[in-house]
Amino acid sequence: MAPSFLSRDLRIAPNGIYIDPPQPQVRAIITHGHADHARYGHGAVLATPDTVAIMKARYGENAAGRWDELPFGERRVIDGVAISLHPAGHILGSAQVLLEYEGQRIVVTGDYKRLDDHTAQSFELVKCDLLVTEATFGLPVFQHPKPADEIGRLLRSIAAFPDRAHVIGCYALGKAQRVISLLRESGYDAPIYLHGAMVKLCDLYEERGIPLGDLRLSLEATKVEMAGQIVIAPPSAIKDRWSRRLPDPVLAAASGWMSVKQRARQSGVELPLVISDHADWNELRQTITETEAETIWVTHGREDALVYWSQLQGLAAEPLRIEAYDDAGEEAE
Ligand SMILES: [Zn+2]
Ligand SMILES: [Zn+2]
Repeated sequence: MAPSFLSRDLRIAPNGIYIDPPQPQVRAIITHGHADHARYGHGAVLATPDTVAIMKARYGENAAGRWDELPFGERRVIDGVAISLHPAGHILGSAQVLLEYEGQRIVVTGDYKRLDDHTAQSFELVKCDLLVTEATFGLPVFQHPKPADEIGRLLRSIAAFPDRAHVIGCYALGKAQRVISLLRESGYDAPIYLHGAMVKLCDLYEERGIPLGDLRLSLEATKVEMAGQIVIAPPSAIKDRWSRRLPDPVLAAASGWMSVKQRARQSGVELPLVISDHADWNELRQTITETEAETIWVTHGREDALVYWSQLQGLAAEPLRIEAYDDAGEEAE
């Protein structure tokens, strides 16, 4: 393959635009609103309308010098490079970036998943020559169970402990709304209670057309009223003083990492729910194959196994090791 027009720090050579840069840059394309991808202080941000709305809500209108919304599927040509955004299925507005230049097609997936999710636009497979893929769960041990089965375990626990509240630790952007939506899909139409830190982004999802049903502030309910109820809270809140005002809470958490029993135990979680917003090992390999890319750059997570597997398929593959992407912070989904 010809030398790539994208460098290994995800800078597009012909126009100098970076994708998800960790430092403030003159121009940046942002794949989605999670904090390790969407940073404050770029001169100009090109992103989907949902991602722009999320960044403005979290960081303020002045978080970028200029906002440039590019809806899914539209092309923007900048210095000869055609840029288009395609759904990544990770959270609301999350995009893969397709770059086309002098006959070469490059896709940067950002974070993605292929499972159905009513709170994110569905993943779209984009064929390319060079694929830059995430690998958060890039090990054969990671094979995510069906989310509906995990929600079923939660509902059985609620039925078994009608006098207790269930507190579910969820990241505020994406996971909280997805868990609520999964509960609604399962037929759960009772009020769902929110920790105050969840309200702003749940409101934003609803404003942008994702219905979440009857949501209430847990602070406004009495301890007695909270028996048998579900509360969505940040992962850090489930163990602190905040949850002591709830009746004998069952501590739960929703994350792809909950398949690692030791992690669940360390965080004091009694009811781990394995609900991931990232592709698992099977989805990662399926995507590499289906894009028909001949060159694979692996970033963001457990890179080595996926690089090795790609090489066994006869592909040119290498790890990028961009340290700014974080799977221990907000991204621990
Ligand atoms: Zn993410
Ligand atoms: Zn990420």
